Amino acid sequence: MKQNDYLIPVYTHVGPLFVKGKGSFLWDEKNNRYLDLFPGWGVSILGHCHPKIVKAIQDQSRKLIHLPNNLRQEWQPLLAKTIVKSAFPGKVFFANSGTEVVEAALKLSRLYGMKQKRYEIVTMKNSFHGRTMGSVAATGQKKYQDPFKPLVPKFVHAEFNDLGDLRKKVTSQTVAVMLEPIQGEGGVYPATPEFIKGVARLCREKKLLLIFDEIQTGMGRTGKMYAYQHYHVTPDILLLSKGLGAGVPIGAMVVKKGLSDIMQPGHHASTFGGNPLVTRAAYEVYSVIEQDKVLTHVRSVSAYLHKKLAILKKESPLIKEVRACGLMVGIELKKPSYPVFTEALKNKLIVNATHENVLRIMPALTVTKHELDAGIGILRKVLKKIC
Ligand SMILES: *Cc1c(COP(=O)(O)O)cnc(C)c1O
Repeated sequence: MKQNDYLIPVYTHVGPLFVKGKGSFLWDEKNNRYLDLFPGWGVSILGHCHPKIVKAIQDQSRKLIHLPNNLRQEWQPLLAKTIVKSAFPGKVFFANSGTEVVEAALKLSRLYGMKQKRYEIVTMKNSFHGRTMGSVAATGQKKYQDPFKPLVPKFVHAEFNDLGDLRKKVTSQTVAVMLEPIQGEGGVYPATPEFIKGVARLCREKKLLLIFDEIQTGMGRTGKMYAYQHYHVTPDILLLSKGLGAGVPIGAMVVKKGLSDIMQPGHHASTFGGNPLVTRAAYEVYSVIEQDKVLTHVRSVSAYLHKKLAILKKESPLIKEVRACGLMVGIELKKPSYPVFTEALKNKLIVNATHENVLRIMPALTVTKHELDAGIGILRKVLKKIC
């Protein structure tokens, strides 16, 4: 059966039928092995089917899979406490995906600005915040917005890494600034330290909520638990999702103390949000990251990867620039990146093509130097062929 005979064709599928995964590898139905340096689109941060996550899901699914959110449950408060301890004093709301925690932050911003009639939210050009209507309006890219006009109003987009432009876009109506510390979907562009510090200062001055969308950069991806920790600033709201459950659907909005009781009963809810199965799995993710010293490992393998990429760039005339922070890597090419992605797939390597010319690599945080070497070897061969 073709993949899209009965599926609405919003995805274009490539490659064979994948049936099994372990660590940095996937297997197809004919038992061919693929090296996956983009596992689960940034979701499978501990690799495919990490044994401790599998065990947590197995245990929990025998005990209790789902409870409604008006009954007291075991893992949701434990996970919330763990997240808060890893970030900053505050409280957590759980949802099921990235775009849902963005929506939660937009609603919280509306509540925060209501009395003073401040509704405008400034986000960045070239950003990505998700696919629901609020998140689409927040996303600063025409291609995601144009087919869905009219958009949710009161969003303004500022140039990324341009404090002067941001200052111009902030008015007496502005209530919040939302940004990704490293723009992911937009091609892996890190914010400069000056920009982040300036944004934080401006938000303090004007009493704006500072919202960091760390749906892609969070959970150790950059070598720190959250990317904002590189910049020595703290947001008012931190948004997490992709890697949070290492494969189970979960998102978290972390809100700083002093703002965390703005949302009251009836203001927001989610039927599935933070159910026992997913919170138990995400709790295990934090345990593994701590017990297995995953962040130390990320810093070590990413230093190695960056060195190898610098060599690859010297060898390959097709590479224009390499942008990397920890295990979040964008390789900007002088040509479209999609053919490189499909050719790599033929050579049993999975990477990602984004933003026309960018190859994105976001391996499992548990990836080994040996696996990275193998991946770069295949990429070298593919770039040579395409060139
Ligand atoms: C993936 C992503 C989202 C959207 O997450 P979904 O789970 O697909 O809704 C939002 N923001 C950022 C930065 C992302 O990378």
